[in-house]
Amino acid sequence: MYRYPEDYALRSASELDLALSAVPAYRDWRAVDPGPQAPLDERCAALPLLNKAHLRAHGLEAFLAPGHALAEGLARGAIDTVSTSGTTDEQMVLTWNQAWWNASEAASWTLNRHAAQAGLADHAEALLTSPLSTGVPSPDGKPLAMLRRRLGRFLYLNEHLDSAAWPDTHIRRMVRELDAFRPVVLEGSPTLLARFARRSVELGLRCWQPRLIVTSYEFPSRVLLRQVRRAFDAPIMSSYGCTEAGCVLTQCEAGCFHQNAAFARVEFQPLAARFGKPGVGRIALTSFGNPWRVLLRFDVGDLVRLRPPETPCACGRTDGIVADAVEGRVNDVTFDARGQLVTVDELDRRASGVNDVLEYQVTQNATDSWTACAVCGRDGAIAELAAALGDLYGGRVAVALVAAIPAEVSGKHRLARCAASFSEAMFEGPMRAP
Ligand SMILES: [Zn+2]
Repeated sequence: MYRYPEDYALRSASELDLALSAVPAYRDWRAVDPGPQAPLDERCAALPLLNKAHLRAHGLEAFLAPGHALAEGLARGAIDTVSTSGTTDEQMVLTWNQAWWNASEAASWTLNRHAAQAGLADHAEALLTSPLSTGVPSPDGKPLAMLRRRLGRFLYLNEHLDSAAWPDTHIRRMVRELDAFRPVVLEGSPTLLARFARRSVELGLRCWQPRLIVTSYEFPSRVLLRQVRRAFDAPIMSSYGCTEAGCVLTQCEAGCFHQNAAFARVEFQPLAARFGKPGVGRIALTSFGNPWRVLLRFDVGDLVRLRPPETPCACGRTDGIVADAVEGRVNDVTFDARGQLVTVDELDRRASGVNDVLEYQVTQNATDSWTACAVCGRDGAIAELAAALGDLYGGRVAVALVAAIPAEVSGKHRLARCAASFSEAMFEGPMRAP
């Protein structure tokens, strides 16, 4: 068992009681609740998981705590609504409570020494993401003036939908704007950070050095981070969270992911034993203290690899779960020729073993068929990548050289896609606090 803060069980129970007693979206869940006299873990285990389809089907009002009304909250500016981008299945409108997000983010900074030492609070922060993730899209594809991309303490560096088509004028502009804005933190998606870093180095441009680089929005591929490090000296911290649940896991200075236990309860369900990956499983999230969206047991669709509780992280933090890695999305797992599951993290470890692979994406077409495309910085890298992937999957993997890996409809990039269907249950055992 991991150690949790003293009030963790109490906060978990009070969110549970609030949701079941007074939040409309959970009305149907009451029938399966063994009741407040039962142990907390037993109560949680009896309940279903919440997923995006449920969030969409119930609508925003159904997740409000008593005493909160959407129209009133919007009118007085306590909340906003945000649309997440993506395919029809992924798109969603959510309430956005900036004050709660800020508090969740500030708590997450205490989980990394570099973030804590940078004295983050009202610091200047530049963001380098697809405008579909956050920021201001250009309505007509033309550049937007810097002033239109400033919001509070933030500067959104990129307004263009296709980062693969950035002209050098855009790279130079971002370098100039970083120089002028002097952000303490540069946060971005790994793909866009890497593309910017790579091209600015090629152009011989020296970038403003922030105190900290934070990656979010996508899996932090080693292949991409390697390029970011060529342009930036600052420590890189991966922040794992989502619009629905806030900042949930933060990478510490020693590289492990620690739970933001003051703001989220994390439950874990292991992968089926036949995959032979003890400690790897999916997580469900319960938010603490966000009255504008009472979120219980949200299946966020990501895999983590837990660090055994008897092997504490070198950083000394002991509150909440500790993961050695966020292993990537459940939907992005692939399978080798023997039917063994390959997580995005495992794939990335193998692909990153080949120097000068700059971007890549693997697609599994059938149980015994894989293809890949890659951006390579040297002749020969593509053949080495094909060999490494062939070894990983136990079959031939044809790799095509491309100019860039295209983004998904959401504006994010994926390292793996699985078009083959595998019907067997992927997880087994209870979903519970580890
Ligand atoms: Zn640590």
